[in-house]
Amino acid sequence: MTRFKTQLYINGQWRDASDGGTFDVLNPADETVLATVASGTVEDALACLDAAEAAFGPWAARSPRERGEVLRRAYDLFMDRIEEIARLITLENGKAGGDAMGEAKYAAEFFRWYAEEAVRSDGYLGMAPASGARLMVHQKPAGIAVLVTPWNYPAAMGTRKIGPALAAGCPVVIKPASETPLTMLALMPILEEAGVPPGLVNVLPSRASGAVVGAMLADARTRVVSFTGSTEVGRKLLHAAADNVIKPAMELGGNAPFIVCKDADIEAAAEGLMVAKMRNLGEACTAANRIYVHQDVEKPFVQSFVAKMAALKMGNGIEDGIDVGPLVNAETRDKVEFFVRDAVDKGAALELGGVRPNGAGYFFPPTVLTHVPDTAECLRDEIFGPVAAIQTFLDEEDVIRRANDTEYGLVAYVYCGDMRRGMALAERLEFGMIGLNRGLVSDPAAPFGGVKQSGLGREGGKDGLLEFQETQYISAEW
Ligand code: NAP
Ligand code: MG
Repeated sequence: MTRFKTQLYINGQWRDASDGGTFDVLNPADETVLATVASGTVEDALACLDAAEAAFGPWAARSPRERGEVLRRAYDLFMDRIEEIARLITLENGKAGGDAMGEAKYAAEFFRWYAEEAVRSDGYLGMAPASGARLMVHQKPAGIAVLVTPWNYPAAMGTRKIGPALAAGCPVVIKPASETPLTMLALMPILEEAGVPPGLVNVLPSRASGAVVGAMLADARTRVVSFTGSTEVGRKLLHAAADNVIKPAMELGGNAPFIVCKDADIEAAAEGLMVAKMRNLGEACTAANRIYVHQDVEKPFVQSFVAKMAALKMGNGIEDGIDVGPLVNAETRDKVEFFVRDAVDKGAALELGGVRPNGAGYFFPPTVLTHVPDTAECLRDEIFGPVAAIQTFLDEEDVIRRANDTEYGLVAYVYCGDMRRGMALAERLEFGMIGLNRGLVSDPAAPFGGVKQSGLGREGGKDGLLEFQETQYISAEW
């Protein structure tokens, strides 16, 4: 067990929890205990804020170029150790090797992208229309940022926040998900070696997530809270942030529609759905959740998609040649199983999979449902697993209405032959991101985020930096 970093990382030091508390991290492929990790307390959370407070001034005073160079070194070191990091992601999250390597590369890119963006934060100079005063507008680091991340991308959901925070000049305290704290802890030696000073990045695993995050949001030194996770927890954090008027960034749940038009390239659409549905085993807020196929092309589309799903190999993700690893925990697996049973009970047709295997590990096979009735629970809630729920449509107006009929608004996918119609459709969909003839939208250079109850703010791209900055305007006369 000593092969993992398992303590709290505060002010550049590895420490046990103030009360000695710990919790276990399991390997979802065999349900064995991988590691026992320190469980941070409120006292530890406040120690993180003390460390961050001390690190803030000197880091913000460094030139943007210097901050960028530290991030660039972090990218290089991450890439040097990428195999090791991907392996750790598989061990604690379960995702198969290809998915883990995909995540690791995506995670590293946020250090490279924000190394480059650190020097591209600009403002403007103007003249007040009436008084003639000079208006000088620039960006300042917002201050201490509390980052709370989910288990589905143990590395990337953290680096997508740490990269822009450091580029902007902010110190951070990161509370990783309790299912998967090991990857974030393992990144700390990399950041240290890259030149991140003590206290700038603190990692606080904790089973008492509500108490430790609550204590940090109740402390006026915290100026930003950036959360990725469920809409339910996001709402609680927004309430807590209100008391000290802390700047929130919220990446919450999704319920992505995937629309296949009559004139779409069917093979490309089936391939795109494989990515949109099966990347990360469906454990993604961006996963296609409601699939609408034009009635005239349902047959060839389903045939092609089922064949691709049937070809996937399920097993322990640490082994070579595995496409589908276990789900992260029993709760997630049981929920997926419930969605399938519920849909079938209500009249859906099971085209593939649907039966959970015996034995250890939280496995669930690639599953395809057709003729899913509107009343099925899986259409309303995030499936978060390898289950594709297919419905049909005839009329484009009708499919737009159905696609928009959700409180979520993260991402929608459209496959369409005629790009003029495809663009018109895309613009009418109430989602923060659209994949048009693409099953993947995530890109470090693009603003990731949702509308409605999928969140507030954007991560990645130019926009991601603004989440960790405050605009200052100086009115001057000379
Ligand atoms: P979750 O239960 O909301 O947990 C996310 C994080 O919040 C974890 O670190 C968790 O800690 C912590 N947390 C839980 N309750 C808290 C509280 N009362 N106060 C403060 N922190 C608290 O979400 P999850 O089950 O891990 O992840 C799945 C969800 O994340 C899905 O809804 C998915 O759509 C969403 N997600 C969204 C995006 C996006 O960018 N929009 C990306 C990925 C995932 P513990 O682990 O210790 O409970
Ligand atoms: Mg959870």
